[in-house]
Amino acid sequence: MRIGTGYDVHRLVAGRPLVLGGITIPFEKGLLGHSDADVLVHAACDALLGAAGLADIGHHFPDSDARYKNIYSIELLRRTYELVRERGYLLINMDATVFAQAPKLAPHREAMQQTMARAMQVSADRINIKATTTEGLGEVGAGEGMAAMCVALIGKQ
Ligand code: MG
Repeated sequence: MRIGTGYDVHRLVAGRPLVLGGITIPFEKGLLGHSDADVLVHAACDALLGAAGLADIGHHFPDSDARYKNIYSIELLRRTYELVRERGYLLINMDATVFAQAPKLAPHREAMQQTMARAMQVSADRINIKATTTEGLGEVGAGEGMAAMCVALIGKQ
């Protein structure tokens, strides 16, 4: 078995949809990035790549590449998990935390887990997503951005 971690941060801006865990969540702002800026899925990709010893998301899907402009990050997760599978590994489980002052993410938790699981064609009970505020502290607390961390455990097929 091998373990990997992922961490990501994106800025929140007006005029962008908020996409988290592959779900579009009603909110006054969205995350800014080259792709859809799905901070949770990016952290999940990095955790998987780290576990498999395959560098990081920027290595495989560089934000300088026009092919990834506004890409739905769930597609990056699908491709990332393909790379993991090619190395002979399967996801055992993944646990992630999203740091966001608002909106409330609990109502979307199951849909995010199911969407991410579907991208990897694994059972949704292998994915756990949590959310927390930072009690108003720091940039996340001020609503300037969101962060996510993820740990993934993979094992030989
Ligand atoms: Mg990112």
